[in-house]
Amino acid sequence: MSGPKKRVYIKTFGCQMNVADSEQMAQVLAEGFVPTDRPEEADLYLINTCAIRRKAEEKVRSLLGSLQVLKQSRPQLLLGVGGCVAQQEGERLLAAAPHLDLVFGTQGISRLPELVRRAGRGRRLVDIELAPGFPPQPRRHWAPGAIKTLVTIMQGCDNFCSFCVVPYVRGREHSRPPGEIIGEVADFLAAGGKEVTLLGQNVNSYGRGLSEPLTFTELLRRIDALPGLARLRFATSHPRDLSGELMAAFGELPSLCENLHLPVQSGSDRILQAMNRGYTREEYLRKVAKLRRVCPGLSLSTDIIVGFPGETEEDFQETLDLVRQAGFDQAFSFKYSPRPQTRAALLPERVSGEVQAERLGRLQNLLNELTFEAHQRLVGRVREVLVEGTSKRSQEELCGRLRTNQVVNFSGPRELVGQLVQVRLTEAHPHSLRGTQVEDSSITWPLAADPQAPQRRLSC
Ligand code: SF4
Repeated sequence: MSGPKKRVYIKTFGCQMNVADSEQMAQVLAEGFVPTDRPEEADLYLINTCAIRRKAEEKVRSLLGSLQVLKQSRPQLLLGVGGCVAQQEGERLLAAAPHLDLVFGTQGISRLPELVRRAGRGRRLVDIELAPGFPPQPRRHWAPGAIKTLVTIMQGCDNFCSFCVVPYVRGREHSRPPGEIIGEVADFLAAGGKEVTLLGQNVNSYGRGLSEPLTFTELLRRIDALPGLARLRFATSHPRDLSGELMAAFGELPSLCENLHLPVQSGSDRILQAMNRGYTREEYLRKVAKLRRVCPGLSLSTDIIVGFPGETEEDFQETLDLVRQAGFDQAFSFKYSPRPQTRAALLPERVSGEVQAERLGRLQNLLNELTFEAHQRLVGRVREVLVEGTSKRSQEELCGRLRTNQVVNFSGPRELVGQLVQVRLTEAHPHSLRGTQVEDSSITWPLAADPQAPQRRLSC
């Protein structure tokens, strides 16, 4: 492309994988486009979609409909839809939205510049090809002062949980070659970055099919050894594939944060089996107990679906009981919604919307209590905070995260952005903590030495 750069606005729905994909879209388009956060002045408007729940898909369709007005006022605007809904719907999206120029699937990002060029010549296009292997990745660049980044290490999933559309819209599981991953992390650290989150639908099974066999834990070890890395995280883990080797790594690798997202989905064995999750509640709780022995300060988050087909009040009570036993610090909970192509969509015994809503309300009340209790237990402690920027409410306040992922706000100079500082936690709030910076850095990790470490009630 030649001439002044045009502006691209990217609206992202869904998970961290989609956030990483949107960053990649901006990178592959960088030769001809600069990102803007003002959709009304964009030359190219991309919607990166999520199909994991019906509600997310409905939001995409609603936004797409509303953009007809913008397109009428700016006919030169190119409008594209990418991601999981694009992969799932393909031509149907184009047919349903005459103002849409481009539909590209989950593996179409590297072809985006060419697709945009062709769409700019008046072609309406669909590219939803799913090729075998890990798709090629462009070399990444980070803005000066970048503090943390997401690094995709695998794509797709082979698990076929009965409720989940991912294997159909992102394809089968493919691991990214370790050299590429380590090179990307090293580049980020050389640019001054501090925190890396490794991403994949099921990172625990990383390495299958690679020419150089490597377990996920070994990949973590290699990354942990890179100079300059302060914090390492990963998402998402499948409980069945959480190995003893990986659990042990939480007690061994200095950069690996004491924070794990381990989606349980249900506390009922009957429902877990219908979901094709491949573990029982006792197996899940045994792993949680082992993790807490290895890493007593671990903060644990999860995903839970309520109202899966056939879920009775007894099944739901088992979920509430598991939530209490596991002592989650944070959880994402949702009402089940049938997704195209999935086996659960064919199951009878649908739970009514009213019952789903009532159960979700009870579950979220419990989860909110647990999150607040976890925050309260931290009050009075001194913890390391990675300062990420100014707080949402006030430019005078700084905002950062603990290694255990809780948000902390405190007063301090802007020069601390990007720094690791010690903060005494003074107030617990439902979604965050407040604190004051301390100069004395003598009280640090690990929590294993902390006599007031939280006591968890576990079944084993
Ligand atoms: S592990 Fe299950 S829920 Fe997660 S992406 Fe794969 S199929 Fe979906």
